[in-house]
Amino acid sequence: MTAISSTLTYFLLCFNFISCTPSTVPVDQKTTSENADKENPYYSRTDTTILKVSDAEWKKILSDEVYHVAREQGTERAFTGKYWDHKGIGTYYCAVCGNALFKSDGKFASECGWPSFFETMRTTSVTYKEDRSHNMERIEVNCGRCASHLGHLFDDGPPPTYKRYCMNSIVLEFEPEAKE
Ligand code: FE
Repeated sequence: MTAISSTLTYFLLCFNFISCTPSTVPVDQKTTSENADKENPYYSRTDTTILKVSDAEWKKILSDEVYHVAREQGTERAFTGKYWDHKGIGTYYCAVCGNALFKSDGKFASECGWPSFFETMRTTSVTYKEDRSHNMERIEVNCGRCASHLGHLFDDGPPPTYKRYCMNSIVLEFEPEAKE
């Protein structure tokens, strides 16, 4: 009886401890996107393995709005996204797969209505593709891990790169820098 009650006490203490501990997950261990309708098994902020996931599979996971931009090369309307005027200090991740894309110190106020960056976080953060749609010659910027469409690259950015990564807010996820 004593053994049973002490075991019970132990479990109650554990349960109490767990339930009283703040449920903060380290940012690099987050396993799902706030933009996903359902559990996203491909989402990771640490795994940089290139993903080969079909659009049919993404369609089951992503919201219609994210899917449209990410997988159908859609563009959100200017001045409507949540990050075009965002000034927080931190990191922007791919909302589809969790890949780290941009740091806030690579962002600038372009006033074009979309979040704009002059450099990526890593050279492998994104890939580039020629885009001749809509009677324009542009460079499409895709996520380096999941190949989702993020936006376009232009040559009218500020120094030192003079590049402007013109992105869609809806395929980005901002994580503020942890306070020391
Ligand atoms: Fe991605």
